Amino acid sequence: MKMKWQLGLAAFLCSGSLWAAPLQVVTSFSILGDVTQQIGGERVAVQNLVGPDQDAHVYQLKASDIQKIRGAKLVLLNGLGFEKADVERAAKQAKVPVAVATRGITPIKMEEGGHHHHDHGHGHGHHEHGEFDPHVWHDPVLMQTYAQNVADALVKADPAGKAHYQQRLNSYKNELAQLNTWAAQSFNSVPVAQRKVITGHEGFGYMAKRYKVYFAAPQGVNAESEPSARQVAAIIRQIKQQGIKAVFSENIKDTRMINRIAQETGVKVQGRLYSDALSKGAPANSYTGLFRYNVNALVKAMK
Ligand SMILES: [Zn+2]
Repeated sequence: MKMKWQLGLAAFLCSGSLWAAPLQVVTSFSILGDVTQQIGGERVAVQNLVGPDQDAHVYQLKASDIQKIRGAKLVLLNGLGFEKADVERAAKQAKVPVAVATRGITPIKMEEGGHHHHDHGHGHGHHEHGEFDPHVWHDPVLMQTYAQNVADALVKADPAGKAHYQQRLNSYKNELAQLNTWAAQSFNSVPVAQRKVITGHEGFGYMAKRYKVYFAAPQGVNAESEPSARQVAAIIRQIKQQGIKAVFSENIKDTRMINRIAQETGVKVQGRLYSDALSKGAPANSYTGLFRYNVNALVKAMK
């Protein structure tokens, strides 16, 4: 009788995630944070270093962030130079394992020189230009690999949750595949020649490639510094010559530059795109919500 009771108790203790404290995970920014939460569900507690509506390009590691990292069992980074090196260094010093969500994804190479010049990787030692475009999340096909990498890292940190993570990953991957099918159909309702967009910084390279949309930005991928007068003049010329109607600001950026460009060209700003961060509330408080919102806004403006 006593034996039975013990077995029953053991089974009870093992089965319930109610009894296990959630796995503490630190993610570098809000989009990765959401993907991690979607796959981890109630088994994980996610904290972002760069939160919703905040700009990762100008982020500095704070003492409170080092505390977050020290309390974590896993640190997840985007990679491709998106994070400054001190984030990874802090994780290594705290002996917390680090995983990179873009591992195995073939990145877009940044063009040498020109306005594709890029500064995400400040802490990247001398590779200040950033060799690769880090903004892979604007392609839900690549995001399936990204989600797989996140799931693999969660399983490694919490092997007891393997079946749980696998099942949630599978349904999330399905959702991403459907998102891609829907986005392709939406963009296909606009003739390719009309798929032209002006936005704050060049964060949409992967969307451009997947769906044949042309993006130009006064700021290039380098969103840290102000665009030069020459860059702004070139964009204004382009809008006028090509009759571009889809002009957007971004949630992470000051809107003054885009407003000025709109004013000088007589084009209306069509609203904002969610480029490198989620929004705090609706409409872009999840990755899939962000992507859906952006595609809808772009398609409507380009038509
Ligand atoms: Zn960016």
